[in-house]
Amino acid sequence: PLVLGFETSCDETGVGLVRGRTLLSDALATSVAEHERFGGVVPEIASRAHLEAMVPTVHRALAEAGVRAADVDAVAVTAGPGLTGALLVGLAAAKAYALALDVPLYGVNHLAAHVAVDELQHGRLAEPSMALLVSGGHSSLLLVPDLAREVRSLGRTIDDAAGEAFDKVARVLGLPFPGGPPIDRAAREGDPAAIEFPRGLTGPRDAPYDFSFSGLKTAVARWVEARQRAGEPVPVADVAASFQEAVADVLTRKAVRACRDAGVDHLVLGGGVAANSRLRALAEERCAAAGIVLRVPSPRLCTDNGAMVAALGSRLVEAGVAPSAPDVGADSSLPIDVVALS
Ligand code: ATP
Ligand code: MG
Ligand code: FE
Repeated sequence: PLVLGFETSCDETGVGLVRGRTLLSDALATSVAEHERFGGVVPEIASRAHLEAMVPTVHRALAEAGVRAADVDAVAVTAGPGLTGALLVGLAAAKAYALALDVPLYGVNHLAAHVAVDELQHGRLAEPSMALLVSGGHSSLLLVPDLAREVRSLGRTIDDAAGEAFDKVARVLGLPFPGGPPIDRAAREGDPAAIEFPRGLTGPRDAPYDFSFSGLKTAVARWVEARQRAGEPVPVADVAASFQEAVADVLTRKAVRACRDAGVDHLVLGGGVAANSRLRALAEERCAAAGIVLRVPSPRLCTDNGAMVAALGSRLVEAGVAPSAPDVGADSSLPIDVVALS
């Protein structure tokens, strides 16, 4: 089926087209620059920007795919989790297209879409697979017995998400928002063993699949402040590399352990932080050592986009899952085990 996907859960207006598991187009507009001076995404600004970008982005997606709107067989849209006002813009657009084209509408889970996008590059996901979902708002270990119907959360962050930690540490280091890409770049010149930052929740009695990044974030801030108070220069590259190493170490250690414990030999990474070069390299290394098949989407598809939503929509159509009600609503805190709304 030819599926048109809409993503507006945060600051990216994404519209993508997928035929089966083939990526046809992935048009993206972002309001990231408008949020930069606030150091985080401002919901009202994001909603307004989605509204302005929506129609041109749909037209670009159709043109890049070389298809007409009338060829579309189904529409998929992020129904949650995310910013309510932002989600509503995508939902309104998706409903309008589904209604006008008289095709089924699927209101889907943004997090499951972050996992589904990998199928566009590496073929159908093995089931069960383990998924490590790491983004700006979420950090979870998921057992995926059936991507169209059943996703189970094994663990999650008890405080900050991994991406949030990147964003906050970047701020401390005077790097731009969002912090992931500049930290990734700065870390290339740094020594990951320069500073021993804490690995949260890795003690023998800690929850094996939960994460905690707020202690790490605070440790980095304290370390930097101590340097500044002493009037010494802050070695930005070393701090970035050491912080990034701590995050990648904990994430990969726990993901591999979850695979081993559950007897699952496929791991897929998803979400914006999965674009991180050190996380990708360390996951590769540790999965190879543990005999786990690792799948990671290319960095561009790890961060929010419309193709990931279309990919999940396509999977739902293929699985014969019933479409959502035409009046499906936004759910800002949609639980991860709800793949699609009824
Ligand atoms: P969610 O998916 O939880 O709703 P989101 O939609 O805001 O959150 P994504 O686009 O999936 O998030 O991810 C954005 C996050 O990914 C930001 O926190 C950003 O700093 C982080 N990120 C992007 N690229 C990298 C990178 N190379 N290294 C580390 N983090 C990165
Ligand atoms: Mg974003
Ligand atoms: Fe996301």
